[in-house]
Amino acid sequence: NRYFTIHEHPEGMPDRELFQLEAAELPALQEGEVRIRNTWLSVDPYMRGRMDGVTTYIEPFTLGKPLEGAAVGEVIESRDSRFKEGDRVRHMGGWRDIAQLPGDQVEPLPTFDVPPQAYLGVLGMPGTTAWVGLNVIADMQEGDNVLVSAAGGAVGSLAVQLAKAKGGTVVGIAGDPKKLEWLESHGIKAISYRGKDARQLSEALKDACPEGFDVYYENVGGDCLEAALDNLRVCARIAICGMISRYNAEGPAAGPANLAMLLIRRARMQGFIVFDHWEHHGDFLNEFAPRVASGEIDYQETVMDGLESTPDAFLALFTGRNQGKMLVKL
Ligand code: NDP
Repeated sequence: NRYFTIHEHPEGMPDRELFQLEAAELPALQEGEVRIRNTWLSVDPYMRGRMDGVTTYIEPFTLGKPLEGAAVGEVIESRDSRFKEGDRVRHMGGWRDIAQLPGDQVEPLPTFDVPPQAYLGVLGMPGTTAWVGLNVIADMQEGDNVLVSAAGGAVGSLAVQLAKAKGGTVVGIAGDPKKLEWLESHGIKAISYRGKDARQLSEALKDACPEGFDVYYENVGGDCLEAALDNLRVCARIAICGMISRYNAEGPAAGPANLAMLLIRRARMQGFIVFDHWEHHGDFLNEFAPRVASGEIDYQETVMDGLESTPDAFLALFTGRNQGKMLVKL
């Protein structure tokens, strides 16, 4: 099988050369194991944190060992009675073409009428994250004004649609002009963060929603957070889902200069990791999958072809070259 490794911890934005494509013979399949031909790989921003060699909420990648990530594929050999050849499954043995894993680390794909890669995006971890962040963490209520950053990405593009379905004014912050267009085509006010400092972004948010926001769904950090804090309504809730503007940063960041807005607006800010709330995944699927299958939810995918393109797909997340979920098709 062929798989990607890294041999050192990157500083700042990783170079393409960090990633090495290696090959090895797989050992014979052991009792209880399953061998899978991967068909789709997910690349996600959180993988950058796993490259630093430090345990956060998840173990770091081991240098020289295959990288990991969500993937879907087809069982090609099984010594676990729960799986048979041809079964379509999801697991964490990504960044490689063939995965060999204990059966208890493999789950069958649900059977909703959607393409298999949907379980890596809109009906997988990113979709569940959008749902949990809005409903469980931010406790979004009917009619709330909602602000979402990285609003054209995998998580953000679902958060804005969920919010729009039961919200008041929904505003999305994004960089890439195609994302801004997509947001506007869904009746979501779109603000570019590019070329704006925190004060200018704050002014643009005020123009877009003079009443202020009841909920801020945070994916970016830095200036976006500072601008959002200026525009909170009383008793606003901020769900801290991610802070992608920091993931390749080399020095310590200045915090938002206006954290006191939390006090002034009696607001609450809470970070969360979707896997602590995975018990909601079933409810999320049952509510959301029919809306995805019927086309009511518009989800977008950016697909790169071939295992070799996996590092490029990953790195492109940090320059915004993905519309919706970034995927690699094998
Ligand atoms: P996206 O599909 O949103 O891809 C990342 C996007 O972020 C890019 O397309 C880019 O869009 C934007 N971006 C990149 N760098 C910057 C920057 N410096 N400043 C502003 N925007 C930037 O990724 P996901 O939907 O998978 O993830 C979105 C966020 O959610 C991330 O922060 C991620 O870590 C977090 N997350 C958290 C989880 C949790 O459990 N807490 C689970 C899953 C994701 P643009 O064109 O707008 O610049």
